[in-house]
Amino acid sequence: MKQNLWINGENVKTEKYRQLSNPFNGEKIADVAEASKEDVIKAIDSAAGTITEMSEMEAHKRSDILRRVAELIQEDRVECARLIAEESSKPLKAALGEVDRTIMTYTFASEEARRLYGETIPMDAAPGGEGRVAYTVREPLGVIAAITPFNFPMNLVAHKVGPAIAAGNTVVLKPASQTPLSAYKIASYFHKAGLPAGALNVVTGSGKSVGDVLITDDRVKMVTFTGSPVVGKYIRENAGLKRVTLELGSNSALIVDKGTDLKRIMPRIVTGAFSNQGQVCISIQRIFVHETIADEFVSMFIEEAGSLKVGDPLDEQTDVAAMISENDVTRAKAWIKDAVENGAELVYGGESEKQILKPTVLLNAQPTDKISCEEVFAPVVHINTFREFDDAIAQVNDSQFGLQAGVYTNDLQKAFKAAKALHVGGVMINEIPTFRVDHMPYGGVKMSGTGREGIKYALEEMTELKLVSIKLD
Ligand code: NAD
Repeated sequence: MKQNLWINGENVKTEKYRQLSNPFNGEKIADVAEASKEDVIKAIDSAAGTITEMSEMEAHKRSDILRRVAELIQEDRVECARLIAEESSKPLKAALGEVDRTIMTYTFASEEARRLYGETIPMDAAPGGEGRVAYTVREPLGVIAAITPFNFPMNLVAHKVGPAIAAGNTVVLKPASQTPLSAYKIASYFHKAGLPAGALNVVTGSGKSVGDVLITDDRVKMVTFTGSPVVGKYIRENAGLKRVTLELGSNSALIVDKGTDLKRIMPRIVTGAFSNQGQVCISIQRIFVHETIADEFVSMFIEEAGSLKVGDPLDEQTDVAAMISENDVTRAKAWIKDAVENGAELVYGGESEKQILKPTVLLNAQPTDKISCEEVFAPVVHINTFREFDDAIAQVNDSQFGLQAGVYTNDLQKAFKAAKALHVGGVMINEIPTFRVDHMPYGGVKMSGTGREGIKYALEEMTELKLVSIKLD
């Protein structure tokens, strides 16, 4: 199969193609177009040429297109999940979950397209402002460049394309090189649903060469990026005055206080640590357990981890499959080795076969070990203890990242204390940090990024607030 670019509602051939292989078995999936600089400019031309049509399209029509996209994905639910599983090695049951969330995300976008409200401003609140009626409206920005990662190849595209189209923008989408086919599939649904040609363009190729054109073209008014902190920082430094939102990485933490019903929560915690091989931006990486329940917690955690089925992503029973690349397996294993050399205890896993790294559990890693202070993005978890709750909060906050944190406690005082003191974008009480539903505000502080997603909040980022003031005399 040959996958061309998608520009102005058409398949566009280019000079270079790159082989895309299944990370689990190495089999070839497709030859995927590598856009040249001229191709990317053509995609921006096409998006820029469709701005007027999109900005003038009635809200109910934008809403209908997005709803239709959700319906088309629903009709192809299993096919979409298999595609995600093949190109990213996400286990099929998790891939089905992602497809369901994608449907939800476009449904929310469809709803929010009808609710792009402004507000009236009481101008007479300031002396000199009397005698005016004023209100705000939200206007689309124009061309938005959306750059997305490999780990949720459909739903994270939806979190950008959904609100962008809901607000009447046009889009050039640059999906991750490892998972381009999911993005092209989504473009085909928008085409079928009646989106004007040119309102959504997809260009694949090297992150830097495609990215540089998108980031530096003055016609692109916003870059919405989800991916690694290093690329996020590069975009921020090179995007000039464009609006930029960055959804970046994390080393998410979970606090488990004494008194917690461990049996009830253990399957959820283990899923939060190892789902999609730990390649989730809010995957549980650091666990802090009250010292009085630590031994029990560790043995239950290992037992539960041992029940996970490791193997072929297309097998419906599989929980953990291949990581996205051999390099990432090598990197994670090197970080595990370093931590062990620094005194951490490897109590489960650590071995790999081809691109599969077995779920891995370490105890008592140092905060300065890479498996603790960097984003591991692999099925690797470490468990440490705390005596005082304040100390647990301090350990969670001792991080360059701040996306989400989870706290299990039965103590209301501690719950409120954690909610206030944790320096993250979202605090999950009696829940894992990995929890997300697609309409909630979502984003990070510190190196985890700037700006918020969650359809309503993304719509605010993707529109310009205009004030209209009418002097009455
Ligand atoms: P990545 O940064 O390597 O790639 C992300 C995207 O950026 C890809 O499309 C890539 O081709 C592109 N890119 C690479 N270099 C570029 C450049 N110089 N200019 C412009 N674009 C460039 O990330 P990844 O490995 O695909 O994904 C993993 C990362 O994404 C992790 O750090 C993870 O935490 C993060 N992530 C964050 C969230 C969130 O919502 N906060 C969600 C999912 C993933």
